[in-house]
Amino acid sequence: IVHWPFSATQRRRLNWVQLAGHKGNFKAADEGTILKKFCENEMQCFEKLQDDALRPFVPGYHGVVEKDGESFLHMTDLLTNFDLPNVMDCKMGVRTYLEEELVRARERPKPREDLYRKMVEVDGEGPTPQEHAQRGVTKPRYMQWRETMSSTNTLGFRIEGIKKDDGTCRTDFKKTRSKQDVIQVFKDFVEGNVTIMKSYLSRLTEIRQALKTSEFFRRHEVIGSSLLFIHDHKGNAQVWIIDFGKTTALPEGQMLNHDVPWQEGNREDGYLWGLGNLIHTLESVSSD
Ligand code: ATP
Ligand code: MG
Ligand code: MG
Repeated sequence: IVHWPFSATQRRRLNWVQLAGHKGNFKAADEGTILKKFCENEMQCFEKLQDDALRPFVPGYHGVVEKDGESFLHMTDLLTNFDLPNVMDCKMGVRTYLEEELVRARERPKPREDLYRKMVEVDGEGPTPQEHAQRGVTKPRYMQWRETMSSTNTLGFRIEGIKKDDGTCRTDFKKTRSKQDVIQVFKDFVEGNVTIMKSYLSRLTEIRQALKTSEFFRRHEVIGSSLLFIHDHKGNAQVWIIDFGKTTALPEGQMLNHDVPWQEGNREDGYLWGLGNLIHTLESVSSD
């Protein structure tokens, strides 16, 4: 039995939620911080973000640490200052895999049965006759299929998961695609609270402004990164940019626009286009 008042550690255990990724990828750390399994690419992003316009919008970064023989990125736990947080992970962009993954799958296809099964679970008609015959789909093929089922391709973002303060957790948004579907999910997430919606919107507008001046953003292909929405019953509401595992630096001198369609080779990610759509979508939630 846990007695009130909770200790800081107990509170953190009760609050902590992971809406994506493998369960073993995160560990609790000192007060208000967490450890994420080390990834060279993500570390480089965090280091470059330390003197970039985006710094106020990404989790605080406290370097690399070793624990039980494994390396981790030490970062701020964004849930710490909330009282029973509601959390949503929204994956940004029109594309969720790297161009190099596409090239590799084409040159040396590795059909996977686990991904085939995940596809069939959602849509028996998903796999092609050939994929059915081999009982396998390649990773980019699975990712592309996920993009067309959800709002990734049509809106440039998709909802990955939600945890509400009543303890319920949902990650079954694979078929949430239309603007109306997304609006409904957001309305349910904020339980019709227009003030929270407005706080989210103003934070998103600040993020968009920062992205437009960010040197880091101009020079990186941002794939698989999410916006983490957090609010609580006290009316605190924040949005953070997380997950740089697949955010890749462009060759020296190259830049992205983030707002034009992707064609293989141009490396565009549709991040700004998606953020614009997200802002418009949320505006219609807060106006009625
Ligand atoms: P994937 O690539 O599958 O999305 P991942 O292993 O790269 O997963 P993240 O996406 O970075 O992991 O994080 C997974 C989840 O963990 C997020 O959806 C969020 O719920 C939680 N999370 C991540 N970073 C933080 C943080 N700094 N503070 C609080 N929660 C976090
Ligand atoms: Mg993620
Ligand atoms: Mg990731």
